[in-house]
Amino acid sequence: MPRDRFGREIDYLRISVIDHCNLRCVYCMPLRGLTFVPSAELLTAAEIEQVARAAVSVGFRKFRLTGGEPTLRPDLVEIVQRIAAIDGVSGVALTTNAILLPRLARPLREAGLTRVNIHVDTLHPERIKHLMRFASAPEIEAGIAAAAEAGLLPIKVNCVVTRGYNEEDVVDLARRARHDGWHLRFIELMPLGGGETAHVALSQFVPTRETRARIEAAFGPLEPLPRESPSDESVNHRFTDGAPGVIGFISPVSEPYCGACNRMRLTADGKFHLCLLNDDELDVKKTLRGGGSLEDVAAILLKAVAAKPTGHRLDEGVSTESRQMFQIGG
Ligand code: SAM
Ligand code: SF4
Repeated sequence: MPRDRFGREIDYLRISVIDHCNLRCVYCMPLRGLTFVPSAELLTAAEIEQVARAAVSVGFRKFRLTGGEPTLRPDLVEIVQRIAAIDGVSGVALTTNAILLPRLARPLREAGLTRVNIHVDTLHPERIKHLMRFASAPEIEAGIAAAAEAGLLPIKVNCVVTRGYNEEDVVDLARRARHDGWHLRFIELMPLGGGETAHVALSQFVPTRETRARIEAAFGPLEPLPRESPSDESVNHRFTDGAPGVIGFISPVSEPYCGACNRMRLTADGKFHLCLLNDDELDVKKTLRGGGSLEDVAAILLKAVAAKPTGHRLDEGVSTESRQMFQIGG
């Protein structure tokens, strides 16, 4: 397994397959002034497979597809199939807003998808319109139901807590987690890209301790669960009254977990992005399109691992300036 210069074992590749999205969450994508990677510049399914094969050859095991909205990619099922078929891959997961899952959940599952994380910031019909902008409650519910019917269980839900939009709705989401056994994770806002969305992230930030206090006030104390793995970014809890469901907190700002980072990221336009909250990148597309071998691609990936920064410097006001979240994938 590749280790970086700080001894961290890096075995998890998050692949952004597209930067388009059918929603415009206020902290992720501005409504105006967007430019997208032209289709010809997106890595193809075969190129993504080549990177995944190179990654497995040096010890990567876990893969996640993200975006933008990955389900907008017409060949997403093929991409899952290609990665899942590689010997040595222990899992292919997907992060999605679920809107298109009613037609895709089953084919994705059959192609080898092992897990799905569904992004739901609120279940309140009006506040969905304000926060996620082009989604609706029935569409989100249909996506969640489709994931469950396809056997993509347990339902894992990600909620980004944003002051003035959904900070009170965390209680309703937790209630739903108790009812339906969801693994629900609350994520702290991160400022990326320096523009309008970074401004939202900074001005509407809600710390984990506040979200946790709201949930404990409603349902009693939460009890920490053992970490699934040392690199798990989510600190998970169960309810102490025996209700099902898991409540996790991902706190990159108030409790950074960079020391346990096991990730590398591949952008949709073919760059290894070394740390979510830094600008450093290494191009791999030129090598892929210039007839480079698997060994050449693996060498770039190892170089990217070796160059990973120690951690983020949000407390010094430093973040990635060159990309917004939809251009990296979370
Ligand atoms: N479209 C998919 C989705 O929403 O799940 C995949 C891409 S999205 C960029 C991945 C995750 O990043 C989502 O859970 C989203 O809520 C989260 N996210 C986006 N912008 C964020 C920000 N500024 N801070 C924290 N999380 C953010
Ligand atoms: Fe789209 Fe996901 Fe960003 Fe929302 S968080 S705008 S669904 S990419």
